Amino acid sequence: MALVVQKYGGSSVADAKSVKRVAKRIAEAKRAGNDVVVVVSAMGDTTDDLLDLAAQISPLPPKREMDILLTAGERISMALLAMATNNLGIKAKSFTGPQAGVLTDAAYGKARIVDVVPHRIRTTIEKGQVAIVAGFQGVNRKEDDVTTLGRGGSDTTAVALAAGLGADVCEIFTDVDGVFTADPRIVPTARKIHRVTYEEMLELAASGAKVLALRAVEYARRYGVPLHVRSSFSGAPGTLVSGTYGDLIDPNAPDGDKEEDVMEDPLISGVAHDRSEAKITVTGVPDKPGMAARIFEVVAASGANIDMIVQNVSAASTGRTDISFTLPEGSGPSALAALRDVKDEVGYENLEFDDQIGKLSLVGAGMKSHPGVSARLFGAVRDAGINIEMISTSEIRISIVTRADSLDDAVRAVHTAFGLDSADGEAVVYAGTGR
Ligand code: ADP
Ligand code: ASP
Ligand code: MG
Repeated sequence: MALVVQKYGGSSVADAKSVKRVAKRIAEAKRAGNDVVVVVSAMGDTTDDLLDLAAQISPLPPKREMDILLTAGERISMALLAMATNNLGIKAKSFTGPQAGVLTDAAYGKARIVDVVPHRIRTTIEKGQVAIVAGFQGVNRKEDDVTTLGRGGSDTTAVALAAGLGADVCEIFTDVDGVFTADPRIVPTARKIHRVTYEEMLELAASGAKVLALRAVEYARRYGVPLHVRSSFSGAPGTLVSGTYGDLIDPNAPDGDKEEDVMEDPLISGVAHDRSEAKITVTGVPDKPGMAARIFEVVAASGANIDMIVQNVSAASTGRTDISFTLPEGSGPSALAALRDVKDEVGYENLEFDDQIGKLSLVGAGMKSHPGVSARLFGAVRDAGINIEMISTSEIRISIVTRADSLDDAVRAVHTAFGLDSADGEAVVYAGTGR
């Protein structure tokens, strides 16, 4: 008998009919002899709707109240799903994040899980019942307040419970058949990836592939939880996320450079895109030691996580330079305010804010040992007539910034240039609004 944690995303439980359909899948897994723990997201776009509602009430709502509001979404779906499962003759009980023992720090809106003490979930399993847990939420023990784990956080709840319970597998059920070489909503010819390492999935998720939340992948890697990403709308096998690049290297290969002998190792695992960042440019910064340090100290203190940074060569005649960086769009206003406060101290000339940017990232562990990847990427973007505004790289990723309205074309061009297009028909998107 296996212990399975199944997570169903919002688009899988968007309405009453879908809730009943998911209940059937849960019943099948239980009747097949497994112990089943389910994590469920809020129905459809409920979380976005609640955010919109709050914005109509208050421009800057207290974070504590915001979290109490948002956790309501998952409480609705967990109770309905438990009712639907009971209707099928399978005993099921729903639990909020706090009841399930998901303990977090106090960072409302982006709380980190610090421990999982799933006593009630264990007792439920021991009674032969299905435990249905509200995703995306926990409790901050110090204040005894509910917290949320950041967007997409139900994935993290599922992985954390799977680790805490020692589950055999954590299945992430969503509205596409697995992790693809690009978002199927943008690239219909995207190909399903059968297996991907934690390392590559981390880069994909960090670069905007929202099929898995970044923290969930980090957690899975740390605790060695294998993930199976698949569709709740089909029976097709999905994508296995597990292992490291080293595991793919054939131990029986003749000696020499083992990386050369990686079996079936694709050069590129995928192309991710991200529309959620903005760019700030500080113009006319005096080109002398300490200025960049001061600018980024101030931005960091405003709570922004900086992604890419570009500093232009200073014009010798003026002794001044421009510094641009990207950050999450939502962090823009506070970062700008913080920079305005030090305008005289730093002596820069101007601040520009641009939220019409898009980021494309090419990810693949194989690119470590292959020259010419950047040249091919830049060539593809050039041939599509798209301008590159910023570039950054890591060992297994190259990212570029373009205009937001060119991003989809850039993703398709790069996907084709690396031979990732599938010949066997279009990738299916079963549901969801892509919001
Ligand atoms: P859920 O509601 O199940 O949590 P999400 O909307 O969070 O679903 O994630 C699934 C979506 O992720 C897909 O519908 C797809 O549009 C998007 N996505 C982005 N990049 C990828 C990718 N590389 N492979 C598959 N899906 C992707
Ligand atoms: N409902 C939350 C969100 O929309 C959590 C999740 O779906 O994973 O971000
Ligand atoms: Mg999700």
